[in-house]
This record gives sequence, C-alpha cells and structure tokens, in this order.
Amino acid sequence: MYICNCSYTSKLKAVFFFGLILSLCCACSRAGARRVSSYDHYWVKAADERVEADRKWADYLFNHLDRRTGSRSVALRQKPAQGTFLQIVVHVDAKGKHDYSAVLDGDVLRLTACDEDKMLWLIYQFLASGEDPRIEASDLPPAMIDIAHAEGDFAFEYRGIYSPSNADPELMPVTASHHVDYDWGLWGHNLRRVFPGEVPEEALAWVDGQRDENQFCFSSELLFKAVEAYVTDNYGEAGGVRFAIMPNDNGAVCACKACMAAGNTRKVATPSVSRFIRRLAERYPHHLFFTSSYRTTEVPPAEPLPQNAGVIISAMDLPLRPDFAGKRPAENFSRKVKEWRKVVSRIYVWDYMRNFDDYFTPYPCLGVLSERLRYFHSLGVKGLFYNGSGYDYASFDDLQTAALACMLINPDLPL
Ligand SMILES: [Zn+2]
Repeated sequence: MYICNCSYTSKLKAVFFFGLILSLCCACSRAGARRVSSYDHYWVKAADERVEADRKWADYLFNHLDRRTGSRSVALRQKPAQGTFLQIVVHVDAKGKHDYSAVLDGDVLRLTACDEDKMLWLIYQFLASGEDPRIEASDLPPAMIDIAHAEGDFAFEYRGIYSPSNADPELMPVTASHHVDYDWGLWGHNLRRVFPGEVPEEALAWVDGQRDENQFCFSSELLFKAVEAYVTDNYGEAGGVRFAIMPNDNGAVCACKACMAAGNTRKVATPSVSRFIRRLAERYPHHLFFTSSYRTTEVPPAEPLPQNAGVIISAMDLPLRPDFAGKRPAENFSRKVKEWRKVVSRIYVWDYMRNFDDYFTPYPCLGVLSERLRYFHSLGVKGLFYNGSGYDYASFDDLQTAALACMLINPDLPL
C-alpha cells in the first residue's frame, strides 16, 4: 500500500531503504553465520598443554561436555577425523586485559579467565548458555553473558549473599557468589569463639572501674594470643581467608591504661581495635582482617592500616528505596566511605535485601539493589554482603538470588 500510493521518488526511496535493510540483514546473518552450537563436535583444547591450569580446565570442560551431552562423541580432546567442529581453547591468563573473555573467531571459541575461580564460572556460562540443546544444563541458572562475544571485569571481589537459595556450597562457585558461613574465618560479633573455654579476665574490657564480661580489651596480650592460635590452628598461614574482628555489639569501651594510651575514649574504641588489627595483618600478611564501621568503631583510625586490612560498613542508614542518590543519607554514607578509603584498601558494604518483618509477601527490591550496587561501585567499594533471610524461606528468593549474583558481577546488567 505504501509504495503504490506514493510518487516515483518516494518509490525509489522505498526501494533503496528496502535494499539497505535487506543488505544489513544479510550482513548480520553473515556475521552470525555460525553459532557456537552449529557444529557436530567440540574439540576442547588447552591454550598451552605445558601449563597445568590450562590443561586442568580444558579437562574439566571436556568432562562436563561429555557427561552433559550423554557421551555421544560430541566433545573430543583430539581433533575430530570427520564432521564439523568448534575448537574451544581454554586459557587461564593472570595477565589478561580483563577478568574474563569469551570470543568466537571463525571456528574457534576462546575462553580466557584471569584466575581459576573465574574460569570455573566462565565454563558454566558456556554450559548454561542455552546455545546447544544437546547440552543438559537444567540444573544451572541461566548464563548472564553472550558466550560468543563477551569480555569484562567482576565489579566486586566479594559477592556474599545470605539467602536460602545460595546455601549450596557446590553451586556458589558456579554462580561466583560467596557466603559468610564458608569463606570467613570469623564473622560478625563472634570473637568470643577464639576461646575454647571461659574468656580469661585479662582479656575483658575495663569499664567503670571493673572488668566487663560483655566486652574485650583489645590491648590484651591474651586476646591476641587466642586469636593467633585460632587463625593458625584452623586456617594456617597460607592465607586467603577473611576475618572480621569486631567488639561485642554494645557501647562498652575498654578504659585500661594501655587502651587509653592507644587513644580510646569513653565512646570510641577505634584506636585499640585498629592497633589490634594492624598487628594481626602484619602477623598474617596473606589473610585479610576487617574491622567494622559500627558503634564504638564507627570512626576510622588516624593512620592507614596494612594492605590486607579492610572495613565493613553497614548501609543500614541508607533508605532502601529508589532515587536515594543526592539525598542526605547518601551524602553521609559517601562521606563515610571516603573517610575510610584514606586508611584501608578494602571497603565492604553490609547491605540488606529483605523485609525482615515478613518473608512471605514478595519484596520487589531488585531495581533498588541494582541502583545501590552501581552507587557502591562508583564509591570504590570492593565487596558486598547481602543480608537476606539466612536459611529461612522467602518468596521469590531463588529468582532474586540468581539475579543478584549476576548483578554483583555486573551491576550495569539490565534487570
Ligand atoms: Zn584495654
């Protein structure tokens, strides 16, 4: 109808545009002529057979493909003698430009990751990509990247989600998420557990002229020795474990001679607690030690702490609603993060993802969390702990946990 009712010039234009669209379509279909799935075989190959990590993860991918395709010779470790094949090259490259990349070039798909954790995640992104119906992946959450054209960096190094849908330690590496019960040597206000029996009196805070059994003295040599024994006995010296070193959850501050000399006041324990953390961080240079910006340790110490020390900042005062940016609570939070950034290299945020009065009514928070994550990232925050319903059921938890795990890798993902 459009062409019939218009002038010759318009007809020419229409033909031109039709031709243009047709040629664009042809170009598109040429560019995507082959999809990752359109081959008879996958030839899985280590980028360098002499490198153990490349070999290990090529084997891992091959074994999964073999099992998930029902061993129908779809996956091969040697070049196929006949049929079409996609060569998948697996490479762990610590010096790569990005944390991960997946690039289809001709008949070669290159999967590259900066470390083995990210390689595992990338391999499952491939398996869950839904490209090939021969690959059984119904046990996996959907992939978040285009497996033929993707490269990027993980936005946060720590991606903790405390929800019932993130309680399977086998699945956590697959979704690249963390969980406090598995990757912290000490978490929360649990310093008490470094003592197998009673807390000795000398490790207790001196408050109002007497020992306070509800708080610690962070200048106590006994407390230090107890933490040291706990770390060495349970986690060794090799490193890679995170420890939260927090006073008990009350307002008491030790006023013993040593703590006062460190700079404690009646309401501020930051000087003695941060001195304690400095000593631990220097004693175990490969583990990570975190203080908290909370109650008596809300203000940062005067001097920078070692590289392996960090702080956990609660986002409780940041209202969980859209358009919070630019408002006073956000300004206060930004100021606090900037103050702490002067003295620690790692800032983790403790944020919330549930209505704690009611786990059953759906709680549509993903849009707000997405906005918050972009905000935290812009402040240089390196880790998130999302406080959900723990091990208790909450409506839509599976969907929200899966989406949040993806957003913790890339907060710019469209919802
Ligand atoms: Zn003290």
